[in-house]
Amino acid sequence: MTRLQAARDRNGNPFVINSAHRCGLHNARVGGAPLSQHLKLAVDISLKGHDRHILYQNCKEAGFTGFGFYTSFLHVDLGRRRHWFGNQKAKQLWQIY
Ligand SMILES: [Zn+2]
Repeated sequence: MTRLQAARDRNGNPFVINSAHRCGLHNARVGGAPLSQHLKLAVDISLKGHDRHILYQNCKEAGFTGFGFYTSFLHVDLGRRRHWFGNQKAKQLWQIY
């Protein structure tokens, strides 16, 4: 939460959170990965109203280490350093890495 607030402070505008902590049952129901970081703390931030690259930069500077790039949201977590794309369209949209 501290990192999330730090990212929001840097960004200077509100975050709309699509998904955050999930219990095991909910994670299974929404088709989340069995070892999903959403079972610990992961947050999906809606891209609506944001410059996605500035949002990503601010989350990185706030200390998040895991990033999932999607067409409508940015997934951030504190798991091991890694990144992935939701699909090919997301990869084209982000044009990063
Ligand atoms: Zn997520």
